Amino acid sequence: MTIGIWVLGDQLNLQQAALAGADPTTARVLLLESSSVIERRAYHAQKLVLVWSAMRHFAADLRAQGWTVDYLQTERFSSALGEWVEQHGIQELHVMEPVDRGFRAAIERLPLPLPVHWIANNAFLWSREAFAAWATPYKQLRMELFYREGRKRFGVLLDEDGEPLGGQWNYDQENRKPPTKGLSGPEPLWFEPDATTAAVIEKVSALQERHGLPGSPEPFRWAVTREQALAVLDHFIATRLPGFGPFQDAMVSGEPTLWHALLSPYLNLGLLHPLEVIQRLETEGLAQQVPLAGLEGVIRQILGWREYTHGLYHWFGEDYASVNHFEANAPLPSWFEALGGSGLRCLDTVFGEIKATGYAHHIQRLMVLANYGLLAGLDPQALTAWFHRMFIDGYDWVMLTNVLGMGVFADGGRLASKPYAASGNYIKRMSNYCKGCSYDVKQRTGPKACPFNSLYWDFLARHEPELKRNHRMGLVMKQLSKLPEEELAAIRSSAANHRALAAAGSN
Ligand code: SF4
Repeated sequence: MTIGIWVLGDQLNLQQAALAGADPTTARVLLLESSSVIERRAYHAQKLVLVWSAMRHFAADLRAQGWTVDYLQTERFSSALGEWVEQHGIQELHVMEPVDRGFRAAIERLPLPLPVHWIANNAFLWSREAFAAWATPYKQLRMELFYREGRKRFGVLLDEDGEPLGGQWNYDQENRKPPTKGLSGPEPLWFEPDATTAAVIEKVSALQERHGLPGSPEPFRWAVTREQALAVLDHFIATRLPGFGPFQDAMVSGEPTLWHALLSPYLNLGLLHPLEVIQRLETEGLAQQVPLAGLEGVIRQILGWREYTHGLYHWFGEDYASVNHFEANAPLPSWFEALGGSGLRCLDTVFGEIKATGYAHHIQRLMVLANYGLLAGLDPQALTAWFHRMFIDGYDWVMLTNVLGMGVFADGGRLASKPYAASGNYIKRMSNYCKGCSYDVKQRTGPKACPFNSLYWDFLARHEPELKRNHRMGLVMKQLSKLPEEELAAIRSSAANHRALAAAGSN
């Protein structure tokens, strides 16, 4: 019997479940590079280069391991898949369960001459069933409880009695330092494109001309092989891990990466497995005597947040994609698609960084981009789709929970206990963006007023009855109630002016 194994573009790991259970001497592997993906989503050019180059390199790695591999470049994967099955007499097709729900549905719609044999996905620490078993008894799910359970279950950062190292589960309070003057992080490890990547860049450049994809495919410096991804992990542990904690929430112009790990693109492609990353961080971080707050902080991102959002994506189910708690419906202003031109220095700085590499770190995403979306009442589905297309590590499973739940509270609190709304004051405290901005972060009314200020108070006022009921919002709602009526009216008028300006150039 000839078994065919179709390896998807985010399953690039030799230990992935469909490959792990098969015999390289009899099975035949397929990788499909289909340009039809950009008809549904105009992805950032760097993201296409990353995924396709990593797929091509993975095919070469598989061949070197003795697998028979067919790598097909096609316009449509549906016809290419059917032809491949027929041409090679494939009798059973094995696919590791895709992480993104839509992909399985798309495969199931294909007119294939044989059934697909789905193999349970092993790219995460928590299977969907294990997450469901954990979540079932709770009325209200919280990441912190899930994270503690993960620490115990996988034996991470525990002392001999099974208690958290250092006596605390979470040291986040120590990890929120604002940037100091001239703050700069170590140089990241980047790579020059080899001949394979250069060929992909050429293809993506041609597609960009035809389809107007965002971002620029060059210079492209991301890792595209497991070997390179492991080198990024080594480099992070050696040069960035000791400094990661204190400034992980800081934002500095000209310093897009600071001490961030830059591992998410490789974890999400399968080039690295989360368990190996966590174990290396723990072992080597403890050996290097890295401050526990920083070590715990980075491990929480992977063992806690990443696993949690993946688990929730499947736990919440399909309907979650359409949640819109605040009934927000403003279209995205044109500067989102153009990746610049808003006139707000914070937004334009982050847009510029995304344009160059498809990357921005978690606080830029949450407290600048998503915060703006929340305050300005942008359509949450349009915003989520934008995040998915623009970010080098963006996938459906990542962005639904992160943007809809954490970013804009569109799920009404199923994920976060309060909306992450902040005025310009937060951005001023945590970045150096406000210096040199044409808006004044100290003003909340008038033409020079920082739009984050007027939008913030306007947001609170628009949703006052509901937000008053959230005890975590108590303090700010009290401040709102103390604002003189005329001042609130002036703030709301400034917010309306900004929204009109944004809408005038909306897509
Ligand atoms: Fe952003 Fe307001 Fe600061 Fe300008 S003043 S950078 S708009 S927060």
